Amino acid sequence: MSSATQKKSSGSSPLSPGSPRDVAWPVRFALVGTASDEVPDRPNGKREEVDWFRGYFCPISLVIWTLMMAQVVPIAVTHFNGSLLRVWTDVPTWAGYIPLLPLPSLRGLGYLFGWSFFQAILMHFLPGKDYVGPVTPAGHRPVYRNNGILAWIVTHGLWLVLGPLTHTVNFGRVYDDFAEIIATNNVFGVPFTIFLIWKGMNFPSSRDCYVSTSIFFDFFQGVELHPRLFGLSLKQLLNCRISMMGWSIVFLCFAEAQYDRFGYVSNGMAMTAFLLVTYLLKFFWWETGYFTSIDVAHDRCGYYIVWGLLTWVPTAYCTFGYFSVEHPANWNLALTLVVTVVGLVALWVNWDADHQRQYVRENKGKVNVWGQPAKCIEARYTASDGSEHKSLLLYSGYWGLSRHFHYVPELTMAVIWTLPAGTQCILAWLYFAFLFCLLVDRSNRDEGKCNAKYGKYWVEYRKLVPYKILPYVY
Ligand code: NDP
Repeated sequence: MSSATQKKSSGSSPLSPGSPRDVAWPVRFALVGTASDEVPDRPNGKREEVDWFRGYFCPISLVIWTLMMAQVVPIAVTHFNGSLLRVWTDVPTWAGYIPLLPLPSLRGLGYLFGWSFFQAILMHFLPGKDYVGPVTPAGHRPVYRNNGILAWIVTHGLWLVLGPLTHTVNFGRVYDDFAEIIATNNVFGVPFTIFLIWKGMNFPSSRDCYVSTSIFFDFFQGVELHPRLFGLSLKQLLNCRISMMGWSIVFLCFAEAQYDRFGYVSNGMAMTAFLLVTYLLKFFWWETGYFTSIDVAHDRCGYYIVWGLLTWVPTAYCTFGYFSVEHPANWNLALTLVVTVVGLVALWVNWDADHQRQYVRENKGKVNVWGQPAKCIEARYTASDGSEHKSLLLYSGYWGLSRHFHYVPELTMAVIWTLPAGTQCILAWLYFAFLFCLLVDRSNRDEGKCNAKYGKYWVEYRKLVPYKILPYVY
């Protein structure tokens, strides 16, 4: 029996009536993610203390701000050439916004549910072994489906066959409906997150559940670390298959929309679509590595993750392509090739850095890195259930240049993808600006997490590798 579960008859924590394991198995399968009656208890009622700033001010203001941003960005891109300032100055009255405001719709829900259902089917039914993720703070090992590459091939193959090859489906329509899709996802994220909070409190999928003294904090941060629904890891479905796979396909749809309008796909659009699709192919090649990343291994499944993946990815991550559909960048071939090669090099370095760390750990440090034996710190730590574990902290190769060197090529790629949008539309640079802030913040959060986890071993690593992201600068 998994350490995350407890025996039905064990007396250590008496079960209240209505315990998750008392409900019929189909309900358990849907909500807990397993038909077995060996399911975790509800969170034990111990609540993390949060003050008014973290518990109320931050989550409430961030939710209001983000919901508004997702409405305003499509208005700015479609009506004001990407200028947020003009959204403010060119509309004389509040009523003037009403005809511009993208609204959620049944069609938008159709896109969301159709896409999510399709990806869930692929994730469940395509062949692939189960992949057991790293041990969680509560000592649980989450299980994922290792069939990302197959899902990528089927999804992109269907796009190619049904779209450009046979013209059975006009995928360019996604561009016309895009503002509506964002508005629908924006609104849907709120009740879905509320559902996840309720599920975490009543039907948790593992013991990695945390509740605080503020329901707003719980809404924003989430309750469960690894929720499962209908036997599938929700984080894998949401982060990888719905969001990242969606990002790739949306770009191909944008390229198709440009073709429908102009009769050709510009070199700039073709380059960005090619690099982005390749980047996401790399993502699925490395999908199991992503399960050790901070999004999956550390962040709980609350509004931050749900809204971020359902709404912010199509809003901010697609803006440069959204704008470029109507503004083709007709670069000459030489420029296109040079920029493409720079983009591919950045992609390679980012992949190689991620892979280096994973490869060294998989081989217990007994491999060469850049022609020399890997240099590692053997870091010990204790999980919250008291069990002892150890990890390797690599300090040679990319991981000896700086502690988050892989963010440098990640940011370089963001610049390359946005170049075709030029400087006409400042909002096209939203992805780069956001990513820059996200990665600086993420490096700090990751440092905090690793410091708490590894203590003196992390301090030693910091001494050996003093730069955080850009060597000799930061
Ligand atoms: P990382 O891949 O940097 O993972 C961080 C974890 O790696 C740490 O928590 C720690 O986990 C482990 N680790 C840290 N230092 C070392 C070391 N020296 N040796 C071995 N392991 C170490 O996480 P990210 O999620 O930030 O990045 C993953 C990928 O996703 C990157 O390629 C990044 O560029 C990309 N990314 C893309 C974003 C986008 O929106 N486009 C956003 C964020 C990331 P442990 O507890 O296992 O020790």
